This record gives sequence, structure tokens and C-alpha cells, in this order.
Amino acid sequence: MNVYYDHDADLGFIRDKKVAVLGYGSQGHAHALNLHESGVPVVVGLRPGSRRWKQAEAAGLAVAPVAEAVAQADVVMILLPDEVQARVYREAVEPNLKEGAALVFAHGFNVHFGQIRPRADLDVWMVAPKGPGHLVRSEYQAGRGVPALVAVHQDASGSALPTALAYAKGIGATRAGVIPTTFAEETETDLFGEQAVLCGGASQLVAYGFETLIEAGYKPEIAYFEVLHELKLIVDLMYESGLAGMRYSISNTAEYGDYTRGPVVIGPEVKERMKEVLRQIQEGEFAREWVLENQAGQAVLEAKRHKWAQHPIEQVGPKLRAMMPFLKAHVSEEDVGDA
Ligand code: NAD
Ligand code: MG
Ligand code: MG
Ligand code: MG
Ligand code: MG
Ligand code: MG
Repeated sequence: MNVYYDHDADLGFIRDKKVAVLGYGSQGHAHALNLHESGVPVVVGLRPGSRRWKQAEAAGLAVAPVAEAVAQADVVMILLPDEVQARVYREAVEPNLKEGAALVFAHGFNVHFGQIRPRADLDVWMVAPKGPGHLVRSEYQAGRGVPALVAVHQDASGSALPTALAYAKGIGATRAGVIPTTFAEETETDLFGEQAVLCGGASQLVAYGFETLIEAGYKPEIAYFEVLHELKLIVDLMYESGLAGMRYSISNTAEYGDYTRGPVVIGPEVKERMKEVLRQIQEGEFAREWVLENQAGQAVLEAKRHKWAQHPIEQVGPKLRAMMPFLKAHVSEEDVGDA
């Protein structure tokens, strides 16, 4: 596999250009600040009145309404929520994009599924960090970086890849390594990972484990610790040293139970259903559903949030987490609650 590092990237491809970073959320604040400190001219594009506006200004960044930021820029990085990108693109980005500018993403959904159809004069590429924004920022500050994926969808200028690598260097990613991919591969694997394993799969596994224990009469507090709280310890071991490292660290009893009972719970039929979930992604069924859901004002999303907030695991969770002030929350209990 070809991996790009610092010596493969020349900041000169981006240092004389103005980069508009649209959005100042998880990814946006990290990209804007890292680029700025790498000596790249940055303007943050936001809605007037956004609470992020003052934050970005206080951090020493130039801020402008989206349309104005785009009009000044040679490179426009779209770090808005995926479901609002197409509308903002139509209304404020495309009409103001300079001829020959670069249109850039951190996730391929809108381009791959045809929600944004860029003009032929534009370069279109992606730099997608493989970590949340706060880590992209803190690793940069520590002199390191978070690995990223790079992909070129459209190369009108003939220098899309070196410019993308320069951007990746500016946010610190080439310090860790940048892996080439395509918009199709990044988008489809990202959706599959979050649906089948990381978010959908893991949440459902935890919920069923919790329900099984409390329906058998065990205390919810004990069940919470065993099937949710301790998951972090296991995931940390996997993250640091893979499945083998995790299995080395756990007891032999746990390891034997893992090999023999894991496939009883997650059998081959689960893999068949994963293939069905992947097919729905590949054929655009999931994308169509999510686009329609947004046109319907996220009605299903709201109903699901409300239903899950009633789950008994959410009744016991806040009480137990309050006993553990050493837990560092990335989201506040108020943000999570179904208030
Ligand atoms: P976010 O929700 O954290 O931030 C979105 C930002 O957009 C906020 O500053 C918000 O104020 C602003 N915004 C929302 N609507 C707007 C509008 N109509 N006009 C102007 N500004 C608006 O988003 P995020 O998680 O940083 O995701 C941004 C992109 O990065 C997405 O494409 C996502 O898939 C991708 N990505 C995210 C992560 C991650 O860890 N969060 C990782 C890799 C890639
Ligand atoms: Mg992902
Ligand atoms: Mg995703
Ligand atoms: Mg245990
Ligand atoms: Mg062991
Ligand atoms: Mg044990």
C-alpha cells in the first residue's frame, strides 16, 4: 500500500492560496486552526448569528458569512453536517465559487451519491481524518497527527493530488500517514462501519446484553457495568494492539468464552445481514432513505431518539456515571437527554 508522509507533501501547493473552511464544529475547528498555525491563509465560513462565530474569532481566525468566505477562496473545505451540505452548496457555495477553485470534503457522501454535482472547472478532492476533530487538533498541537484518507474525484487543474497532500500536511495528517482511496470506497466503507459495527452493531449488542441480564433478574447497575462500562476497556485494548492483544490481556476464562460463545451470539447469519446492509449502501438505497428523511424534517430520527431515551439503560446510566467523576465526557448529560 502506498502511504504518503510529510516528505511526500509540499505545503507550497496551498500556502499561497486562501482556504475557506465552512463550519466550525468537530472537524471544522481542527482543520481551520491547524491550517492557520501551518501558515495557510484561512477564513471560516459560518451563518451570521452562529454561536461558533465568536469562538472562531476568539481563536484568532477570520470569519465571514459562507457566501463571502467562498468568494475569497481558492480552496473550499465543506465541514458542514452531511445532510445540509447540498442545500448550502446550491444556495451559497456554487454561485460564489471562483473559476478553477478546489471543492473539498472530509466525507464523500454528497458527491458519491450525486447530491452535489460539481462544475467541470473545479478540482474535487477529499481529505478525511480517521479520527474525531478534537483529536485532529490535540495531536497537531502535540507535534503529531491523525492518519487521513485522500481521494481525488475531479482533477481540472492537474495538481489536485499535490494540493490535497499539502492540505493534509497543513492539518498534521502526513505526520501520521495518508492513505489513498476513492470517494466510493471511503463513503461506502464509512457508512457500513458505522451502521453494522461501530454505532448500530455495538449499540444493539450492548442493549440486548443489558436486557438479557435484567430480564433474568439481575440488578440494572451490575448489568450496566458488565455490558456497557467495561466495553471501553476491551475496545481500548483492541485499539492499541488488535484482537490478539486484547485476547492476550484478558483472563484465559474470558478468552475461552470469547472463542466458544462469541460465534453463538454473533453467528454466520449476522454476516449475511451485514452483506444486506452493505448492498443497501452500495445501491444507494440508504442514501435515498436518508435524503428523504431530511426532507421530512428528520421525523424518524426524532422518534428513534425519543424511544431510545426511554430504555432502562438510560435510566441507570446517569446515576452510575455520576459516581465516576473521573470519566471524561465528550458530550454533556444535558446534550444527550431527551429534554
Ligand atoms: P459538526 O456537526 O460538528 O459541525 C458542523 C458545523 O457546521 C457547525 O459549526 C455548525 O454550526 C455549522 N453549520 C450547520 N449548518 C450550517 C449552515 N446551514 N450554514 C453554515 N454552517 C452550518 O460536523 P462534523 O462532525 O465536523 O462533520 C463535518 C464533516 O466532516 C462531515 O462531512 C462529516 O462526515 C465529516 N467527518 C466528521 C468526522 C467526525 O469525527 N465528526 C470525522 C471524519 C469526517
Ligand atoms: Mg467514519
Ligand atoms: Mg460517517
Ligand atoms: Mg467483567
Ligand atoms: Mg490472556
Ligand atoms: Mg471476567
